[in-house]
Amino acid sequence: MKAVMLVKGYNPETKELGEVACCEVEKPQLVNEDDVLIKVAYASICGSDPHLLEGMFDLPIPSPCGHELSGTVEALGPKATRKGLKVGDKVTGNFYRTCGGCEYCLNGKSQFCENAFGWGAAQAEYIVWREDQVYKLPEGVGLLEASLTEPFNIAVRAVELARLRTGDHVAVSGGGGIGLMVTQLLKKCGAGRVTVLEPVESKRKRALEMGADYVLNPMDADVAQKIQELTGNKGFDALIESSGNGGAARNALDFVGRGGHVVLMSMYKKDFELQMNLLEYCYRKELMIQGMYLAQESFQRAVNMLPQMNFEPVIEKIYALDDCKQAYEDQKSGKYAKLIFDCSL
Ligand SMILES: [Zn+2]
Ligand SMILES: [Zn+2]
Repeated sequence: MKAVMLVKGYNPETKELGEVACCEVEKPQLVNEDDVLIKVAYASICGSDPHLLEGMFDLPIPSPCGHELSGTVEALGPKATRKGLKVGDKVTGNFYRTCGGCEYCLNGKSQFCENAFGWGAAQAEYIVWREDQVYKLPEGVGLLEASLTEPFNIAVRAVELARLRTGDHVAVSGGGGIGLMVTQLLKKCGAGRVTVLEPVESKRKRALEMGADYVLNPMDADVAQKIQELTGNKGFDALIESSGNGGAARNALDFVGRGGHVVLMSMYKKDFELQMNLLEYCYRKELMIQGMYLAQESFQRAVNMLPQMNFEPVIEKIYALDDCKQAYEDQKSGKYAKLIFDCSL
């Protein structure tokens, strides 16, 4: 079968980026009794996937790529019976598998599971996952949109961590795939107004389609003043930073108002350090700054929300697995919201 593989690693001396290629590999087989073989329909490219090319995860070469997918159950192990899955069911899944028994798992912090196993091989024609990683899609949810469930789950947790109160004016920094999903979800969850900060014009347009009330270009010299106008000189009640840009994270501290919540949900560059005056931001302004690593326990709730969501404006381009080099190039350009492989092409 075909699979997208990291075939060349990052070279730290020459700073030459790694490379992906579409390779012919063995079709995966059922091994464990609770394994599920999924014929992948669509696999989307994560904002973090290009970090593979930058050596962020120190992977062996070759390594399979991708962790966001939808598909159809093709075979089930004899003990994959707890969820009532059947051959032919349309499903999505969570690449991150936790043990359920370590101290973190038992204390509601399973994102830090000491025995977690999480690596995707989703950008391929087939994948085998354990039953507890596989989720049946609600009635009426299409496979294309369902391939965005894993990043949507990240959006769900980010919104929960923002401690939204009904009617709040919330800002979303970054109009990439997750930022756009956060935008729509905020409106569904009762945000009064949502403002999206995004430098790329086409993404600002998509943000409006996703329900944003206002869009601003954070590169404009007068953006701080515009925020003051929009918020009656109070600043936002909360801001969710999804761009991964260190400068945007720094600006977030100024854009939220007193007692505001800032969620820094991205994977920031290794060497970025944030400077802040503690007297000003922690004492006088009483900011709540919340980091975020992964989202584990919200996955079923993300699946439950799918029928209410419309991801159409997020999906920009669809590629064959054979065109993975181009797809990764496009993802790196930062111009697009969500790029997806049709794994049947
Ligand atoms: Zn992802
Ligand atoms: Zn655990």
